[in-house]
Amino acid sequence: MQEHAYLALCSEYKAKTIADSLRQGLSALNLEGAVKRGDRVLLKPNLVMAKTPELAVTTHPEVVRAVAMVLNDCGAKLYLGDSPGFGSLERCLEKSGLMAVMRDLDITMVPFIEEAVILESENLVAKKLTLAAAAFDYDKIINLPKLKTHSMMGTSLAVKNLFGFIPGLRKAKWHLRAGHDRHLFARVMLDIYRQTVPTWNFLDGIVGMEGEGPTGGTPRDCCLLALSADAPLLDYLVEKWIGYPELTPLSQEAHNLGWLPEENLYACGSAALKQLSPAIKPAKGANQATFPGQRLWRRIFIRRPVITRSRCHRCKVCVEHCPAHAMKLVDGKIVIDYKRCIRCYCCQELCPYGAVRVGYGVGR
Ligand code: SF4
Ligand code: SF4
Repeated sequence: MQEHAYLALCSEYKAKTIADSLRQGLSALNLEGAVKRGDRVLLKPNLVMAKTPELAVTTHPEVVRAVAMVLNDCGAKLYLGDSPGFGSLERCLEKSGLMAVMRDLDITMVPFIEEAVILESENLVAKKLTLAAAAFDYDKIINLPKLKTHSMMGTSLAVKNLFGFIPGLRKAKWHLRAGHDRHLFARVMLDIYRQTVPTWNFLDGIVGMEGEGPTGGTPRDCCLLALSADAPLLDYLVEKWIGYPELTPLSQEAHNLGWLPEENLYACGSAALKQLSPAIKPAKGANQATFPGQRLWRRIFIRRPVITRSRCHRCKVCVEHCPAHAMKLVDGKIVIDYKRCIRCYCCQELCPYGAVRVGYGVGR
């Protein structure tokens, strides 16, 4: 039987240990030759915002260092890019510790500024999709997600990490189009995956995030490294491993497409027969059921963003990025128009001060 994923226990951020584990995984999955001498390889970490490594918001620099060490041994030329949800790429790289790794290992920075428009009638939702041109400028993409819970999508793993290929404020437009529909949003993610298809995906779950992810949750020692050439399959297996209480919309949609055949759902590695205990704590807004009439139901009862005024610095990041233009600064306070709010939780994701929580709110 050929396993399609490698799940390994790893309890510390030591590049050599991580690189050894990655090499074992590549060998076990027959991926050793996937990157060849001279290949131009784009690394895509999670750099959603400028946060220090111990907060578990971004891919840890020692994981990127380990991957770069392995790829340097293959003779690849390395590049690294992202389109952060908030802030400049340079600032995110400095704060996350990745810039130092890039200097040490001669990795070239690639801001996702230039765009490429893809017209693809086979796409599930995004028949016209604008992605960062970088998605097509390199021989290989290596996806380096962080293990996190996510207020809207349940988890943020390998497929979700590719949303960073949507340049800048175009992300907000997709949030606006998907609105409350987590399954529509999942299908957009799968369209992005089909266009980018990373050569392999290596997930940093040594310290993951639980609770109010993907930026406001709590770091959690998960001691997991996970590798696969198949991002939806990796996500499915990692969700099972962390004890996520239900199939996330992404895994449900991947399953509906036949992308998770039973015979492929096997992993090897030191963590393959284990599970996270106790199970990961999901984000509060993540398990809203969907059913006919949900729109009205959601408008009335769905958890909504609430500003914690004592934490708010009135920086207006949330106002500037709210895709529904539902937020305003009025008399020194952030005010949310819940009639306009689509509950995408971008404001929670992007608030640099953790001032947006997701809470119950009966009413509009
Ligand atoms: S809620 Fe957060 S993002 Fe919005 S103004 Fe306050 S501190 Fe800034
Ligand atoms: S207020 Fe927050 S949750 Fe509501 S639409 Fe704006 S960014 Fe999304």
